[in-house]
Amino acid sequence: MTAPSPLAILTVAGGRGSRAGEGIPKQYRSLLGETLLARTLKALHAAAPQALLLTVIHADDRALYDASVAALPAALRETILPPAIGGASRQASVRNGLEALQALEKPPKIVLIHDAARPFADPALIARAIDAARDHGAAAPGVPLADTIKEIDAAGTVVATPERARLRAVQTPQAFDFELILKAHRTAASQALEFTDDAMIAESSGHAVHIFEGDPGNFKLTSREDFLRAESLLLNDLPDIRTGQGYDVHAFVAGDHVWLGGVSIPHDHGLAGHSDADVLSHAVTDAILGAIAEGDIGSHFPPSDPQWKGAKSSIFLAHAADLVRGRGGMIAHIDATIVCEAPKIGPHRETIRASLAEIMGVDIDRVAVKATTSERLGFTGRQEGMAALALATVRLPG
Ligand code: MG
Repeated sequence: MTAPSPLAILTVAGGRGSRAGEGIPKQYRSLLGETLLARTLKALHAAAPQALLLTVIHADDRALYDASVAALPAALRETILPPAIGGASRQASVRNGLEALQALEKPPKIVLIHDAARPFADPALIARAIDAARDHGAAAPGVPLADTIKEIDAAGTVVATPERARLRAVQTPQAFDFELILKAHRTAASQALEFTDDAMIAESSGHAVHIFEGDPGNFKLTSREDFLRAESLLLNDLPDIRTGQGYDVHAFVAGDHVWLGGVSIPHDHGLAGHSDADVLSHAVTDAILGAIAEGDIGSHFPPSDPQWKGAKSSIFLAHAADLVRGRGGMIAHIDATIVCEAPKIGPHRETIRASLAEIMGVDIDRVAVKATTSERLGFTGRQEGMAALALATVRLPG
């Protein structure tokens, strides 16, 4: 843990909503290989590297949360406090998070309260939020409305048309003097009052809330369309598309299994090699290194170095994927071919795809694994060894 910071950012991620797609809560859904929560935390850290980050999660989501955080860069993980467990409502969840911050040896002076479903909070917005909390004690970002707003009654009849110029759609992060919002939350809880956002809680305690300039790009991901829009925005930021190739061969020796893509496959021989001789992982690793022009597997993990003797090749592959992420890029696609007469790859194909995808931290639909024999020709045809070829397509920032 780093030194106590006067600034904390509390991210609310306790929601159960899975409206956007798969059965898991949307904050743990993948956005181009990283969870929505991980992307949001990365954006917050990039905007305020000095801030302590605390996430409020649902008690059932601990494993999903841990996996999201484990995939983050080490420098970011050092700013992350243990998660707080949410309550029955968003308000109760925020309160639990504030109490966890209060329990720190040195509680923050300023707290920003943010939704996990807003991954596009940029540094300028966060800077405005911090300034607004300092200057006003309670503040929220607001954006002007493009549409006219009508208030209607139960029959659908318009009863009022508020003046649009005076209306704002309110976003997060909302920004507060820490003691002020903690006290307001405690009072609201003691009076069993429920509010829709934290600004309203500050208002209820009698504190004026300042609206500062929000950002239309800081939108909340709710629907499937929102996720598609977010993915295309993220892809637009990765215009530098590169392809690398990899090729590898290992000889058969006595043994009872071979490693392919991190999966142990029963066979009447093993493969010889300094590491675990995972010919497929080696080809994919070299393809990724080729795409980013970072040498080859041997230059990163010299076979002469005894520490790699018997090593799991997933270490090499994960390292190559980390290099891509470290550049702010992504692995867009892997297409690999295994060449052998035996073992039969078909029955293991999906397991191998899933394993490669997990090691690299990419979605499985971006990983293709194919197999072919060489019609009993050449060294693979004579079953003296196996070969693997791979292409990696990588996208990098411009
Ligand atoms: Mg090799």
